[in-house]
Amino acid sequence: MAKSPIVARTVLSLRQALRPYRRAGGTIALVPTMGALHAGHLRLVAEARKRADRVVVSIFVNPTQFAPHEDFGSYPRRFAADRAALTAAKVDVIWAPTAAVMYPQGFATRIAPEGAALAGLEDRFRPHFFGGVCTVVAKLFLQVQPDIAIFGQKDYQQLRVVTQMAKDLDLPLKVTGIPTVRERDGLALSSRNAYLSPDERAAAPVLSRVLKASAARIKRGEAIAAVMTDGVGEIVRAGFAVDYLEARHALTLAPVKTRKDGPIRLLVAAKIGKTRLIDNMAV
Ligand code: AMP
Repeated sequence: MAKSPIVARTVLSLRQALRPYRRAGGTIALVPTMGALHAGHLRLVAEARKRADRVVVSIFVNPTQFAPHEDFGSYPRRFAADRAALTAAKVDVIWAPTAAVMYPQGFATRIAPEGAALAGLEDRFRPHFFGGVCTVVAKLFLQVQPDIAIFGQKDYQQLRVVTQMAKDLDLPLKVTGIPTVRERDGLALSSRNAYLSPDERAAAPVLSRVLKASAARIKRGEAIAAVMTDGVGEIVRAGFAVDYLEARHALTLAPVKTRKDGPIRLLVAAKIGKTRLIDNMAV
């Protein structure tokens, strides 16, 4: 049986757990998560194991990236199952602080990202989100001090924002993005898929289907605006309310009008019932 990871719940115990790895001169990879782990998270862990000697997975449902009306209270929390999955995946340390450890009484500092964080995508619908993400991710980076941090392309704007933050703050680590893991029907794996009713689950693959078809049409030279309008129509017909479906520059996330404006990423966010899903794809 695989050895259970060390579970650290305070910054001191985390540092104690990491000290021998550092003394031995090994590299450390960090995979930040909010738990409720699925095969997408486990792909990041597998990549981390390939790229570093030791792997730390953080599990922290970060209150500061949720708005009051969002699903912080109901977000799935399954520590026992997560620990079993991370044991099987041969993770070395689980960093699972409480909110009081992460944000002790008197905590008063927040990172305010700009650039891709103000692209008018997730930030338009979740104005608290990237400030909360950057603040907690900066803390995670400083707590763990990894050589490499692994994120999913599933949260594409987040990946761009965190990559820029690490660069801007001269944080001594490499941020790496891993392609999205999908169900057989194309639906991107997400902890929030558990909220979907059977009918909603049956409708949900429309997001990846539209992204794929739209990418192919744009590649063939069709006008981006028309392709996006058709895509929104198809997603709405499947029962979603669309927050956005947009073509953006893959690195800056600035709007693009034609293929000549740079490498393009298509990004979508849409709500079905109470569940909001996001996805994205390269053109
Ligand atoms: P979360 O627990 O949702 O905050 O996600 C933790 C990390 O896993 C983030 O870097 C996500 O982008 C990544 N992730 C979530 N879903 C997937 C997926 N389907 N494929 C690849 N990475 C994912």
